[in-house]
Amino acid sequence: MQKDIEIKLAPSEVGEDEVLKKTLSAALEIEQTRIKGYKILKRSIDARGRNVVYRLKVRAFIDENFVPDVYRIEYANVKDRKPVLIVGAGPAGLFAALQCIENGLKPIVLERGKDVKQRRRDLAAINKQGLVNTESNYCYGEGGAGTYSDGKLYTRSNKRGDINKVLETFVQHGADEDILIDARPHIGTNKLPHIITAIRETILNAGGEVRFDQKVTDILIEFGKVKGVVVNEEDQLLADFVILATGHSARDIYELLDRKKILVEAKPFALGVRIEHPQSIIDASQYHCDIRSEFLPPAYYSLVAQVGSRGVFSFCMCPGGIIAPCATYENEIVVNGWSPSKRNNPFANSGTVVQITLEDVKGEDPLRMMRFQAEIEQQAFKLGGGNLVAPGQRMVDFVQGKLSSDLPKNSYLPGTKSVMLKDTLPDFVASSLRNALPEFGKKMKGYYTNEAILVGVESRSSSPVRIPRDKETYQHPQVSGLYPCAEGAGYAGGIVSAAIDGVNCANAVLKFS
Ligand SMILES: Cc1cc2nc3c(=O)[nH]c(=O)nc-3n(C[C@H](O)[C@H](O)[C@H](O)COP(=O)(O)OP(=O)(O)OC[C@H]3O[C@@H](n4cnc5c(N)ncnc54)[C@H](O)[C@@H]3O)c2cc1C
Repeated sequence: MQKDIEIKLAPSEVGEDEVLKKTLSAALEIEQTRIKGYKILKRSIDARGRNVVYRLKVRAFIDENFVPDVYRIEYANVKDRKPVLIVGAGPAGLFAALQCIENGLKPIVLERGKDVKQRRRDLAAINKQGLVNTESNYCYGEGGAGTYSDGKLYTRSNKRGDINKVLETFVQHGADEDILIDARPHIGTNKLPHIITAIRETILNAGGEVRFDQKVTDILIEFGKVKGVVVNEEDQLLADFVILATGHSARDIYELLDRKKILVEAKPFALGVRIEHPQSIIDASQYHCDIRSEFLPPAYYSLVAQVGSRGVFSFCMCPGGIIAPCATYENEIVVNGWSPSKRNNPFANSGTVVQITLEDVKGEDPLRMMRFQAEIEQQAFKLGGGNLVAPGQRMVDFVQGKLSSDLPKNSYLPGTKSVMLKDTLPDFVASSLRNALPEFGKKMKGYYTNEAILVGVESRSSSPVRIPRDKETYQHPQVSGLYPCAEGAGYAGGIVSAAIDGVNCANAVLKFS
């Protein structure tokens, strides 16, 4: 017999097999010897009370042997099957490729950047010399923006597709099984490259293809139907299906579509800064303690405020993290955040952004939000003074309109320069942040402090352009066979939702081909 039950454990008791069985036997009111095994279904930290506890949902195997789950999809060989061109090897492109294989179609993934290993050198040049390779950086290359991301896998997209399948696919390719049970699953930047490499190997072993240094520069269309793509401005590749999963940074793709009179639309996004505190401040506040217990992970937060008609919110919070330089073009600053699997850096950062509406950027140009985003990133670069040095300001100084006399030690490797951050942000963004930060301080003790630094600019929160598609067929309304996919097309925000959208596009190809 199997029974699911919820139990609470002290942080020091988590992972103690005997304690867990004893707690289960007490909760189920049965002898401990009858519990032959158990499976943790969900695990979360509850820090609401004075004493922080773990809440576990557990399946107990009573008088019945426990059989562990095996996460394994078998991928048949598709070498000689119908080809599907997938542009972009981010989470969306890779999961679309895996699903194509499951569907008996041959994926050919075209990626402008390099493989995971070679990409590492370009990241070192960004961090140490402030040099951006426009084809290989934190956003471009194998695994897309997902590879050197934080690898948080929490998503609210449960209506869009099978989240568990995505998580289990990560496990099949080397991720820790903890991601299947944690309320806020996290892989960590150090582990993601191996997982992405394993996914590539699955695709290749099944007869699919993954080609690097293959920048798609044109889409071939005849009589409203896709015919293939042009790569690196010279090679033509022909196919009846193109999944366009180029992410939200590929401005050249939006420009290409617009130039070819293929409908694209301006899309609202959110803009702001990355905020970094010493992790100890966040721990003390969230866990109500002076020093975090060794049994608890670095603490997390999520904050939201309404300032007039605008939402201001934190997102992509990275406990024990690093602020990363994520520009894709020269002479611009874009920041984001990541953390290693152990989350053992001394800082906590999060994107803290203000909603921007289409009315904030007047005009008819469908690319106006994108151009507005680019201008702000370029202004941030100028304010920093070059070499990817980012503009920064202490939190209370920012709110009070004072230049910081110095900046706190922080994790952003190319360096930060003290400036008036309002000079790089639109007035309504700066004033919304100015109002929201003290509010956040009321919600979270210790948050509103000059020990925190604001680093500009967090501008790639989501795509500034939408590529429309039919709700049912997933194809562009003007071009059959063209499947706008995931974050770059405006249908996903994050690794899991992008992966789900990749799966959905591959299923749509099968259904409507
Ligand atoms: C530092 C950082 C940390 C992040 N942390 C998290 C996190 O913890 N959790 C989370 O859910 N999300 C996180 N994200 C966001 C997440 O990485 C993205 O939401 C996700 O990768 C989007 O997936 P995608 O496949 O739609 O696009 P992308 O990952 O952007 O992939 C698009 C790919 O297309 C390629 N491409 C673009 N143009 C062309 C072209 N013309 N020809 C060929 N290839 C092209 C690009 O090189 C890229 O590899 C983070 C992002 C960054 C940068």
